[in-house]
Amino acid sequence: MNISNYDCLFEPLQIGPVTAPNRFYQVPHCNGMGHLRPQSLAAMRGVKAEGGWGVVCTEMMEIHPTSDVTPYIEGRLWDDGDMAGLQLMTDAVHQYGSLAGVELAHSGSSTGNLYSREVPLAPSHTACYDNLPFSARAMDKKDISNFRHWHRQAALRAKAAGFDIIYVYLGHDLTLLQHFLSPRHNRRTDEYGGSLVNRVRLMKQVLQDTKEAVGDRCAVACRFAVDELIASGGLRCGDEGREVIEMLSEIPDLWDVNISDWSNDSQTSRFAEEGYQEPFTSFVKQVTKKPVVGVGRYTSPDKMVSLIKGGVLDMIGAARPSIADPFLPNKIREGRFDDIRECIGCNICVTGDMNSSPIRCTQNPTLGEEWRKGWHPEIIPAKNTDDAVLVVGAGPAGMELAMSLGKRGYQVTLAEASKQLGGRVLQESALPGLNAWKRVADYRELWLRKAPNVELYFDSSLNARDILSFDIPHVYLATGAYWRRDGISRSTPFSVEGLDSSKLFTPDDIFAGKLPSGKVMLFDDDNFYMGGVIAEKLVAAGCQVSFVTNDALVSPWTVYTMEQHRIQTRLLELGVTIYTQQNLSRIEADHCVLACVYTDKKQIVDTDALVMVTEKLPHEQLYQTLIAEREIKSDLWTQSGISTLTAVGDCFAPGTIANAVYSGHLNARQHDEKHPLLEVPFKRERILI
Ligand code: ADP
Ligand code: SF4
Repeated sequence: MNISNYDCLFEPLQIGPVTAPNRFYQVPHCNGMGHLRPQSLAAMRGVKAEGGWGVVCTEMMEIHPTSDVTPYIEGRLWDDGDMAGLQLMTDAVHQYGSLAGVELAHSGSSTGNLYSREVPLAPSHTACYDNLPFSARAMDKKDISNFRHWHRQAALRAKAAGFDIIYVYLGHDLTLLQHFLSPRHNRRTDEYGGSLVNRVRLMKQVLQDTKEAVGDRCAVACRFAVDELIASGGLRCGDEGREVIEMLSEIPDLWDVNISDWSNDSQTSRFAEEGYQEPFTSFVKQVTKKPVVGVGRYTSPDKMVSLIKGGVLDMIGAARPSIADPFLPNKIREGRFDDIRECIGCNICVTGDMNSSPIRCTQNPTLGEEWRKGWHPEIIPAKNTDDAVLVVGAGPAGMELAMSLGKRGYQVTLAEASKQLGGRVLQESALPGLNAWKRVADYRELWLRKAPNVELYFDSSLNARDILSFDIPHVYLATGAYWRRDGISRSTPFSVEGLDSSKLFTPDDIFAGKLPSGKVMLFDDDNFYMGGVIAEKLVAAGCQVSFVTNDALVSPWTVYTMEQHRIQTRLLELGVTIYTQQNLSRIEADHCVLACVYTDKKQIVDTDALVMVTEKLPHEQLYQTLIAEREIKSDLWTQSGISTLTAVGDCFAPGTIANAVYSGHLNARQHDEKHPLLEVPFKRERILI
């Protein structure tokens, strides 16, 4: 591999009055830390700059109390008092020679100002988003002038806080400026409504205001969604999306272009391949001389080179690839391609923001922990002792644990019952659309196979006798979990009448290649992705599938990964019959009885087989056996040379793949460290009274 092929990614680029050191651009992304956790945020952004991202941006930054996005936790720049927190971030980014960007935002009618209680603003009278039972007020000329003043003031404060790139933001269907541009939102009849020239007026004025205010030292970027993927009433890259850029092409110093709304911009790998935005955004470089940034979950260095050399983009924009691997640019520069931790496109990172909690990542367990736990994605403290470690089970938890202990310098033995590393990741990545998830295992396997201090044993299903005979002092059990087949779940806490195991399937059966046939009812009480993907697999296998959930939506927790509407659409298009708000009441030989969750009204659905996607239980038999044997013979462990036994990952408590990776990493960091039980295990950011 000739690493000079990648030189074009490391050429500096002039953006207005500032110069980016390379072509890696961390575009704005939410993180659930925002104005409430400025130190956590600064540390997270600083690590990205350290890892080589030439530009590191904030998340959306509220500019005024009329744009308060509570309950979401974003940036806040309402007055001078908000500047100190942001300066932490600009200092952290500048420390590594990168540029800091800030995405100034007014959210218009997409927010209800639940904290400030200010009346939301919009181009025309309109109901607020999210079914809020109140409306945004149509802005008059004074409101428009006020908004321009607020934006200008926020730009000046951002400049004073040290930002180098200041955004005018029209993306994700979430901003007032985008609402002015859109005929769906803008029904005005004055000079700000009607024709495109009129609808674009405020965008142009704010771009000019911002350039006048801060353009002497700061670059002014425009984040603009060129396509909304809406059949009628939305901007399309083939018409008005393109015309807007043609009209304003040379005003901003940089165009950061994408597609709208957020669920379109940040599509999961289940629904979109790397580079999925190119068909919409690739025209932009033809209509402007200014630098262009675009996104598309880019993780392939060769693809990045082709985008720059092919004149598609000037800088590689990334949110998720920079989350999964903050050191991606440096690894490319150093030719360390095997070390790249590629984003798997699962959107677990989005669930943090959606639930107003700090960001987390399936691939990068240190994300969000940089400040509060002092974790670094590439550095882990060296070992404290020479004691060897046995890890049993090579799923995501066992692999991450073995790898991180190996990086600390411990002698690690990793024993796996099957012939392959990966555990549930291998099983799940074989399901429709989840192929990219295999990267969780691939990245770790590449490292583990090369490590001189890690021994891998396959086909090694260990029992308690084996473990007691090894004479290895620290034993971790990462033996995973299995899907319940007793009918017990959240909505059926006492199982289901008539449960007949001969016709019952669980996801584990599907993984093992044991598929039902004929009329199959899938009862989903897990409510994340598993029920939906198994339904897809069953349809592909020729089954006639009915999908039953007691929620109002199919796969309701995927609202937080922004996939829910896509999943439900796909199942409907595949011909799956969907029964919502139904409990599974009774199972008979050739049918199931469903009961309405509200009225208990019954209905019968002909069924040849039942797939229950309910809950998982830990594979903890080995753990319990070792504990029980020590209770019978108190010196059993010491005689066998065992001083600690710890369950990790799904074996400790079943959860997401992200939870399993985190559990493995946490245990590796805590290994041989003292952790007083009564102390909070991380630093907190408190309000000082
Ligand atoms: P997690 O998500 O916690 O990593 P997984 O279910 O993905 O859990 O992985 C558990 C792994 O442990 C599987 O690959 C399984 O084959 C392996 N395993 C389970 N029991 C044993 C055992 N007794 N000895 C060795 N490996 C085991
Ligand atoms: Fe990528 Fe998933 Fe990490 Fe988000 S959580 S950055 S989608 S791997």
